[in-house]
Amino acid sequence: MQNIGNTIAEKFGKGRTVFSVEFFPPKTEEGARQILRTANRLKKVRPDFVSITYGAGGSSRERTLEYGELLGEIFGFEVMPHLACYGHSKSEIASILERFDSAGFRNVMALRGDKPKDGSVSAHPDGFAHADELVGFVREKFPHFGIGCAGYPEKHPEAPDMRADIANLKRKVDAGADFVTTQLFFDNSHYFRFVEMCRGAGIDKPIVAGLLPALSLKQLANFKAMCSTDVPRALSERLEAAGESPDAQAAAGLEWAQEQIDELLEAKVPGIHLYILNRAESALKLSEKFGGRGER
Ligand SMILES: Cc1cc2nc3c(=O)[nH]c(=O)nc-3n(C[C@H](O)[C@H](O)[C@H](O)COP(=O)(O)OP(=O)(O)OC[C@H]3O[C@@H](n4cnc5c(N)ncnc54)[C@H](O)[C@@H]3O)c2cc1C
Repeated sequence: MQNIGNTIAEKFGKGRTVFSVEFFPPKTEEGARQILRTANRLKKVRPDFVSITYGAGGSSRERTLEYGELLGEIFGFEVMPHLACYGHSKSEIASILERFDSAGFRNVMALRGDKPKDGSVSAHPDGFAHADELVGFVREKFPHFGIGCAGYPEKHPEAPDMRADIANLKRKVDAGADFVTTQLFFDNSHYFRFVEMCRGAGIDKPIVAGLLPALSLKQLANFKAMCSTDVPRALSERLEAAGESPDAQAAAGLEWAQEQIDELLEAKVPGIHLYILNRAESALKLSEKFGGRGER
């Protein structure tokens, strides 16, 4: 059972940057061992909350719940499960939210979800087309829940332009989202510009910076291809200079993330969310940046 009564929204605005990490539910036995090892190592870092992703079309529904509960019960984290509505009917969504509720979760990251490229999941005729509808549904049916939603400093790939995408984000906030977590970015200037545009559009909720410490040149190339993420030349050069060694490339990626965090903390951003891919090393190292803040 989670800490009843706490919503993540209450953590913002207390004069320090909220620190969180993201897990994904494992599919294999080795993956299961890894998430538990990582959670155990991160216990001492005490992130303000952790989130756990949700597979498109409900493919990880049970595992999201199972591992979300484990992270809360065994390791004492405050856990925010994700929920991606694409492919689900409204009644399925209501029953998933009921299960989140009775498991004691008090926050949900409300998403549309990616449409699988193989067409294995399609939109449900009695479901939601976009995340703002899910946000509104949660706000109405589970008013005690804190709600996060996704934002895109470099624009969502399907949006025609930044203005349209920010108008969509505004709909999510107006429907009841308490905070926004961004897609990963490697150049802070995208985040700062995005926040400025959001404020200009009347979005006044905390905008949490989503960061991923790059592991390799190959991974960077994938992000560039899949999410159109801008990979600064200086970042690629640092990883190239690290040579073939995976450890040296990961160390260069970590160093870059450390510098991003320094600048974001200096700018007093409301929160930093690390996409850790169920690995402990980067979070342990980067959490030092949050050491001594508040009660941690
Ligand atoms: C922090 C974070 C966590 C994530 N976690 C997960 C996860 O756990 N599981 C998962 O499957 N995916 C996850 N994703 C990926 C996410 O599901 C995809 O990016 C997905 O393609 C969009 O989801 P969304 O909630 O932003 O959708 P939406 O807000 O619905 O936006 C999707 C697209 O539709 C457009 N749009 C929205 N409303 C309208 C409208 N009324 N008319 C026309 N266009 C509109 C938007 O501009 C955008 O281009 C995550 C992303 C982020 C940033």
